[in-house]
Amino acid sequence: MKPPFAIAVKFDLLKVGHCQHPECIALRGGGRRAVDFPALVGLIEHPTRGLMLYDTGYSPRFRAVTRGFPECLYRLVTPVTLPPEEELLNQLEERAIAPSDIETIFISHFHADHVAGLRDFPNASFIATRSEREFCKKLGRLGRLRRAYLPDLLPPDFDSRVSDAASQPTLELPEECYPFTKGWDLMGDASMVGIDLPGHTASQLGLAFRALEDGPIFLIGDACWKIEGLAQNRPPSRLAYPLFHSASAYDETFASLRTLHCSPDAPNLIPSHCSTTWSRRGGSRQIFRD
Ligand SMILES: [Zn+2]
Repeated sequence: MKPPFAIAVKFDLLKVGHCQHPECIALRGGGRRAVDFPALVGLIEHPTRGLMLYDTGYSPRFRAVTRGFPECLYRLVTPVTLPPEEELLNQLEERAIAPSDIETIFISHFHADHVAGLRDFPNASFIATRSEREFCKKLGRLGRLRRAYLPDLLPPDFDSRVSDAASQPTLELPEECYPFTKGWDLMGDASMVGIDLPGHTASQLGLAFRALEDGPIFLIGDACWKIEGLAQNRPPSRLAYPLFHSASAYDETFASLRTLHCSPDAPNLIPSHCSTTWSRRGGSRQIFRD
């Protein structure tokens, strides 16, 4: 077995719609002005396992499944902007990627802003944590809504296409990932490593790998909303905590990510909704257009 991250992958970040919330929700002590929460999606090409996504962001289907009551409340609380040029299928088409070309989708968690496009990828296998999936299945209609979980976004054959990240072999992470010491070998070649990030939801799936152009990357989903929150030790507002699965687990995960972020050799941490990360990267690097 190669050491973790010996195989590098092609990687780009895409913005697939956004919503807005007051800054203070994402960053304790922040202002009340509304700021953008982009829905960021990882587009990955593994040298032998093909094209992969980390989440899907929003899709026009989100509007369709939030038409009825009480689901429309979700859309009223979180108005979504998704111009056609940001729709995931359109962005893939621009890169000459057909929906059927996507072979694997890593699902950080089942909130609608991460899974709204899953039905668009007929050939994709899904990788998620079983505990997260089981938890969502048990929720009633209002519980699902409170947890931003809309089961109609999942394809009908979802259960036969998903595998459990936590059932994959465990591997030791290199020192640069401290305090994270263990991960799941999601592809069997130590290239794509799943890391459990509990708290925001029951068990969120983070994804660490080495990108050809960027070096080590760690996609951290909603374990933190603004990257400056880690540098400045400013977690989200207490007002956001009732939405979380476990406040104590969230704080513990946040503290570990902060330790990692502040270490000199840390991978590049990418939260799913961080506009700072998006603008620092200068948007999509267009590396799949070659
Ligand atoms: Zn989210």
